Amino acid sequence: MTTHEHDLVVIGAGPGGYVAAIRAAQLGLKVACVEQERELGGTCLRVGCIPSKALLESSERFAEAKHALASHGILVSGVQLDLETMLKRKEQVVMTLTRGVEALFKKNRITRYTGRGRIEGAGRVTVLAPDNTIELKARHIIVATGSQPAALRGVQPAGDRIGTSTEALSYREVPRHLVVIGAGYIGLELGSVWRRLGARVTVLEFLDRILFGMDGDIALEAKKLFEKQGLEFRLGARVVGAREEGGQCRVEIEGGEAIECDRVLVAVGRVPNTDNLGLENVGIERHKNGQIPVNAAFQTSAPGVYAIGDAIAGPMLAHKAEEEGVACVERIVTGHGHIDYDSIAGVVYTNPEIGSVGKTEEQLREAGIDYRKGSFPFRANGRARSLGQVEGLVKVLADSRTDRLLGVHIIGPHAGDLINEAAAAMAFRASSEDLARTCHVHPTLGEALREAAMAVTGKAIHF
Ligand code: NAD
Repeated sequence: MTTHEHDLVVIGAGPGGYVAAIRAAQLGLKVACVEQERELGGTCLRVGCIPSKALLESSERFAEAKHALASHGILVSGVQLDLETMLKRKEQVVMTLTRGVEALFKKNRITRYTGRGRIEGAGRVTVLAPDNTIELKARHIIVATGSQPAALRGVQPAGDRIGTSTEALSYREVPRHLVVIGAGYIGLELGSVWRRLGARVTVLEFLDRILFGMDGDIALEAKKLFEKQGLEFRLGARVVGAREEGGQCRVEIEGGEAIECDRVLVAVGRVPNTDNLGLENVGIERHKNGQIPVNAAFQTSAPGVYAIGDAIAGPMLAHKAEEEGVACVERIVTGHGHIDYDSIAGVVYTNPEIGSVGKTEEQLREAGIDYRKGSFPFRANGRARSLGQVEGLVKVLADSRTDRLLGVHIIGPHAGDLINEAAAAMAFRASSEDLARTCHVHPTLGEALREAAMAVTGKAIHF
């Protein structure tokens, strides 16, 4: 067995791992990255964020051509779906980006090993490939192995009939009736895709609300708008079983009711990929949910072994993993590097989009923090009017005493882009007045954010 020496071995080439590898190489380390899949980029690039956004874009254009262009005076007829081309385009987008990561690895002289990485002891990782085993030595090891869809007890997977987001990104036909289990990020994004393409979509959610963890007002507004688009919701519906027979699926809800359909998407959360990594060889004990415990420098209990991204606690978001990858490596090399978790935003890429950063109103109430709030509807925004996308609102929450921004929640056109301004403001510890007094270009959607900040002190101009 050949042994290769590096300063750092990163296990996993998702957004956490590949970004950590690049930053480490920039900082002068000799870096290796171990990835079991052929393509680099992890879940996000291969079967997550990127392909879902490609399909969300394509399906939205299809729906627009069918239902919305006439109001602009554009008459189209004979709009048809060519699903094969839509899926091919998605694959092309994925391929371009995964190759982009390969190119970045080359540019930064990162050695890539294909196979399963396993920690054998302090500073030792083996790469298990189908035809050989390679031994790597490194002073530092970063575990960035990501997560996978959680299974649901009683639900028997059956190819693309009863599957996860991975299958739902590649259905070869539009489902007649798709049952989505879980009204979270994945269920709503992929439920939207197939609804727009013509499927009947029923979302079963165990809680009495959708988008658990997001601001309550925004989630309520979202549900109303999604229902207008034809998504059907059953709240308080706990799925206890699902099975397939002859292409037909039967989903059982607690209480005895059953729903028949032809596709089931299980989207009930994700679990960390921390099995069979050899963590026990260096004495790392995991939390019950599989997460690896780390300190603020992402160090595990084993010297020289670090963990980041979905493998540790916190929101399972690509950009959170990237931040951690950079901070972890900077701590290793420079001794500095930290993350402002309060300014990490989350986005649901439905139509309209939902963007959220900081605390929700429910969290502030629960923590007993006095706050003021301002909100502003997109229907009073000139740019939203001209886009013909007037649904939704911006909500700004600020500390009653200091006026410091505590949370910003947006549902509306391009909320996913707008939320970055709020995140930057929060990272700089801005007050609502700082946002309100910053001149915003007219006519832009960003003016709605400014007006919501003005509304915190009752000074909104246009509403
Ligand atoms: P989620 O945690 O967002 O939502 C899962 C939902 O399933 C919850 O509302 C839960 O109450 C419900 N549920 C659980 N068991 C159930 C049952 N037996 N019957 C009915 N409902 C049940 O999970 P997700 O949508 O699978 O997403 C997983 C992760 O991936 C999330 O952490 C998310 O951050 C990430 N993700 C992010 C994006 C994005 O940033 N746009 C997109 C997709 C996924």
